[in-house]
Amino acid sequence: MIARGIKQLRRAFDEGETTPEALVDEALRRIESGDSELGAFLHLASEQARKRASDSTLRYRAGNARPLEGIPIALKDVICTAEMPTTCASRLLDGYRPPYSATVVERLEGAGAIIVGKVNNDEFAMGSSTENSGYQLTRNPWDPSRTPGGSSGGSAAAVAARFVPAALGTDTGGSIRQPASFCGIVGLKPTYGRVSRYGLVAYASSLDQIGPLASSAEDCAEILQIVAGGDPRDSTCVTHPVPSYLAELGQPLAGLRLGLPREYWGEGLAPDVASSARGALEVYRELGAELVELELPHTEYAVAAYYLVATAEASSNLARFDGVRYGVRKSAEGGSLLEMYKATRHDGFGSEVKRRIMLGTYALSAGYYDAYYLKALKVRSLIRDDFLRAFARCDAIVGPTMPDVAFPIGAYVDDPLQMYLTDIFTVTANLAGLPAISFPCGVGGGGLPVGLQLIAPAFAESLLLRAVHRYQQATDWHHRVPARYAE
Ligand code: GLN
Repeated sequence: MIARGIKQLRRAFDEGETTPEALVDEALRRIESGDSELGAFLHLASEQARKRASDSTLRYRAGNARPLEGIPIALKDVICTAEMPTTCASRLLDGYRPPYSATVVERLEGAGAIIVGKVNNDEFAMGSSTENSGYQLTRNPWDPSRTPGGSSGGSAAAVAARFVPAALGTDTGGSIRQPASFCGIVGLKPTYGRVSRYGLVAYASSLDQIGPLASSAEDCAEILQIVAGGDPRDSTCVTHPVPSYLAELGQPLAGLRLGLPREYWGEGLAPDVASSARGALEVYRELGAELVELELPHTEYAVAAYYLVATAEASSNLARFDGVRYGVRKSAEGGSLLEMYKATRHDGFGSEVKRRIMLGTYALSAGYYDAYYLKALKVRSLIRDDFLRAFARCDAIVGPTMPDVAFPIGAYVDDPLQMYLTDIFTVTANLAGLPAISFPCGVGGGGLPVGLQLIAPAFAESLLLRAVHRYQQATDWHHRVPARYAE
């Protein structure tokens, strides 16, 4: 059932073919039998989910079901939930329970969705493999020796294994799109400001966005429709009206101009990724799209600029974890306040988080601020201008989401810089604040999924969802499920 998609599930509920209770039971059963291998869930809220599901079943019977009534959803563990722990996959927040839930959680629950649990990520969303979790490894459902990507690795793995129809992740530099690409599903990073971040534990505030991961563009549209829109509790969230993403999905693509940046299609691309991605371009051509070659000349500086801006903001955001206000406090007997701060942060943070706090503090320090942080901001403007120029010639930009398929667990443990470099195609959309989507477009070496990315002008999520939906009507990559998780 889970594999059917939200619209079909709604129909099955309406027609009495199944009930939310049965569906939630199925999700929990799949998780209980499959997650010991996969490692996606940090917290499973079985009892609560079952209770909600029986309420949803009653609502269906009474004819007052809401749009996502009875749909099981998983949440990345950086999103605050008053009724479940929220650890950000950090030991520092072991067992932490926020006093309130994020706006996205309120909206999902208000629409009838059932949160089944919290899923793993790189600690505080810092990483590209979920290996930086303070708790556990998450494996790629297509090949357990590979990473699911990160930092929303638990969200992507849970959807790819069809434990849940959809999950929320966050994307600061690619953390929704990259794991979606590695796990063969769809992941959408909305425009900066489209979705409220009230109740999201901040990593890099000028880049972070919450967005959906699901097996199809249609299901991403279902989720975005509910979570998008202004929020008085988040001043960075804009009040632009939310279009009807679902109603616009079916519009044809004829005349759509897709821009191919030379920098995204050249050297460094694995041959199997390049050939799957080129195959998808043919499909778009048949659907009536026009392909336009263009340049995004500052792409080569994007990773450097991103890792300066992101770490600078992280060093400031993570200062709040001092052992006083949140989570676990460590202190030596009779020690001073400073010793308590030190012991808490020393024991609580993992090594990647410490590396980033130090890098960011350095980039912001007097004497280096101009050379690093300010320079990175200037590069950020240039990258944004590249996109604005490109969008004068095309409606959306297309390229592979990642230079290669999912890498083996442990591949970059001794060389974090090499891992940072693989973010080359995803960080640009965050630096420019633009919406971007990744979706499966083929299979590369080892039977691993290949993802294609589309980037659009600000607030053109509808265009992205429609472009992927039309592609998915013409192809069936999104229906593939890893053999060990097929029903
Ligand atoms: N891989 C990038 C990083 O490590 C992106 C993370 C994210 O988007 N949260 O910062």
